[in-house]
Amino acid sequence: MKIAIIGGGIGGTATACALRAKGFEVALFEQAAAFGEVGAGVQITPNAVKAIMGLGLDHKLDAVAFRPRAVSGRHWQSGRQNFRIDLGEEFRAHYRAPFLHIHRADLLDVFASELPPEVCHFNKRLEGVAQTGAGVQLQFADGSRFEADLVVGADGVRSAVRREVFGAGDLRWTGHQCYRALVPTGGVVGHVAPESAFWMGPKAHVVTYYVKGGAAVNIVAVTEAAEWVEESWSARSSRTAMLKDFEGWHPDLQKLFEGVDEVYNWGLFDRDPMPGWSKGAVTLLGDACHPMLPFLSQGAAMAIEDAYVLAQALALHPDAPGAALAAYEAERLPRTARVQLEARERGRTYHLPSEDEMAARDAEYARRAKEDPRTTGINTDWVYDYDPRDFAARRAA
Ligand SMILES: Cc1cc2nc3c(=O)[nH]c(=O)nc-3n(C[C@H](O)[C@H](O)[C@H](O)COP(=O)(O)OP(=O)(O)OC[C@H]3O[C@@H](n4cnc5c(N)ncnc54)[C@H](O)[C@@H]3O)c2cc1C
Repeated sequence: MKIAIIGGGIGGTATACALRAKGFEVALFEQAAAFGEVGAGVQITPNAVKAIMGLGLDHKLDAVAFRPRAVSGRHWQSGRQNFRIDLGEEFRAHYRAPFLHIHRADLLDVFASELPPEVCHFNKRLEGVAQTGAGVQLQFADGSRFEADLVVGADGVRSAVRREVFGAGDLRWTGHQCYRALVPTGGVVGHVAPESAFWMGPKAHVVTYYVKGGAAVNIVAVTEAAEWVEESWSARSSRTAMLKDFEGWHPDLQKLFEGVDEVYNWGLFDRDPMPGWSKGAVTLLGDACHPMLPFLSQGAAMAIEDAYVLAQALALHPDAPGAALAAYEAERLPRTARVQLEARERGRTYHLPSEDEMAARDAEYARRAKEDPRTTGINTDWVYDYDPRDFAARRAA
């Protein structure tokens, strides 16, 4: 079976690795001239680390990742800690994997460096998909074509594969925009500690964490906006704009923001969960089928889990791709839909407008923390506990 993957982001490259590990012939098509990621960090939670362990690539991940000591929730103005999840030995043993912080380019490279040059086709922007009885005909912007037995659309939130096969559908403006920046760790102060800190304030929140093995702090600072005016959804912004939007926030954050050089500005879009991801010999993966708000830190994680499960499903049904795609969707669609919807809900609870509502939320976080220190506040036990490596055994049972 000849499998074409459209998109060379984290999802597409992970898929190519997972399929090749199962012995499938793969061709990956990326519209850019080379693999590349934006200069920002990503949190990789234990559920996704387990998929990477399943691919035998965790040694590469470990070499470039930073291990934070905790996830902590903080009050926007006072810096008071509202919840804390210790990420030490007990956490790692419970979830059978660590919680990691990593620069996006480093994560992409964990997968991309596994792919031989003959598998990767650059400057190939997909424009058309036609299913014939014999296979799938792909049409690229440069006029070239490719014939595949199976196609995986891993081409992101504005997926051309999705548009061609399912129609464009609505990309939903979530009412959130974010600033993203990296700051060298040298100037970092106080509460911006080597942990994943969630600073929650009125109609905004900030997440700070270490990447590049601890050499830099990644900042994601989210505010609400009536509409997104930029044509691009990753535009340049400025330190001044960022400082203005976070006026009055804790001095440690202000100090961190003052050290920012390059700032990117993203409008955050998502979609409603889809009823299905596959038609004939074409399926979707990652942001192409389940774009989500980043408030549970799960977009890339879900794409990596998808990649691992899709390869296992195809290996279970090598002569019946239809059955494989049905098994893939049955495993992945309910989970990713729940994550999409819960991430939306976090958009509301992280941004409560008044101090009274924030105090009630924080009291609830404290109550949950007392009940079970692992699930505290952001309630992520069900997300982290999932182990994609169990998929084949669960199917067989
Ligand atoms: C602010 C922010 C913070 C985030 N933080 C986290 C986090 O902490 N943890 C986490 O797990 N996730 C996080 N995410 C989500 C994560 O970044 C995405 O979910 C993930 O990158 C999706 O990967 P993908 O491969 O599906 O899509 P993409 O990364 O969008 O890759 C798609 C690829 O397809 C290519 N492409 C597009 N169209 C075509 C075409 N027509 N032909 C050929 N190639 C094409 C693109 O060039 C690109 O290389 C965050 C997102 C944001 C915005």
